[in-house]
Amino acid sequence: MKQIFSGVQPSGNFTLGNYIGAMKRFVDLQDEGNCIYSIVNLHSLTVPKEANELREYTLQLAAMYVSIGIDPKKSILFIQSQVPEHAELGWLMQCTGYIGELERMTQYKDKSAGKEIVTGGLLTYPALMAADILLYNTTHVPVGEDQKQHLEFTRDMAARFNKKYGETFVIPEPMIQEFGGRIMSLDDPTKKMSKSNPNAGSYIALLDEPSVIVKKIKRAVTDSEGTVRYDKENKPAVSNLLTIYSACSGESIDAIVARYEGRGYGDFKKDLAEVVVSALTPIQEEYKRWINSPELTDILKDGAERAHAVASTTMDKVRKNMGLVTF
Ligand code: ATP
Ligand code: MG
Repeated sequence: MKQIFSGVQPSGNFTLGNYIGAMKRFVDLQDEGNCIYSIVNLHSLTVPKEANELREYTLQLAAMYVSIGIDPKKSILFIQSQVPEHAELGWLMQCTGYIGELERMTQYKDKSAGKEIVTGGLLTYPALMAADILLYNTTHVPVGEDQKQHLEFTRDMAARFNKKYGETFVIPEPMIQEFGGRIMSLDDPTKKMSKSNPNAGSYIALLDEPSVIVKKIKRAVTDSEGTVRYDKENKPAVSNLLTIYSACSGESIDAIVARYEGRGYGDFKKDLAEVVVSALTPIQEEYKRWINSPELTDILKDGAERAHAVASTTMDKVRKNMGLVTF
């Protein structure tokens, strides 16, 4: 049986990139294994946040998880900071990893570039992520392509720990999609779509109104060739739009390309907006119901208890193997 773990940061407006690259997959995986999904609010603190903002995004993400179809009867859904073992194992992982490894991480380089304030947490983020995953005997981690390097680090940490202290952790496998694993920004196809991008035109938020989606897609960059075809190297912007179209409609890229033969980007973008709106409307309807539901708190409390039960068993083993004395 697969043990699946993944998380999303409550750090902004959840995007179509988060949905296609990771969250949509979380839903399907519920029938393939034991799933644990987290709202990783400790990770969000790596880039300074206002308390109110963090609180709000945390509850929004909880509502979003259930709105897309995460079923709390099948999966454990919880807030990371409510299970203190994450911070504890996170520290032990910081002491297992090396500075050189952490400084090589692309996410650290991207997020710290040109910033006046860079927290220590931004550098040690992968150690906390390793802890998140390793606490649950995770075998599979569905993530977007940008997290591949952090997953490699997690595997290295688990192996290093096992070698030094004896068999303790399961070595997890990443699950990254070939198509949709990296959705690019609408304004710059060389950058990944990110919810923390200050330019809201660069992403489609899952809660964007239909008129906003239409406008953002209309403004999305393309190229001067004028032909709808998939060519990631030479036509990254159009290829990205085709990937979004395919992920939202379920059609193959070839079928979509065939339909737009001899037609311009105008028609294609108009239909793409419709396809995206149709995919997001049911989620938005559910979200309206969930965001004010008192049931959400019960789901999160129950999730934290169930997660804690697994995490504390792993930590007992870790403390014992590492020589951290307990009575
Ligand atoms: P931030 O800019 O705050 O890091 P983010 O959009 O990268 O936000 P995360 O919470 O870091 O979101 O990531 C949640 C999940 O979404 C991860 O599995 C990540 O790999 C995936 N993901 C993020 N952006 C994309 C993208 N553009 N395409 C595909 N998957 C993505
Ligand atoms: Mg990210």
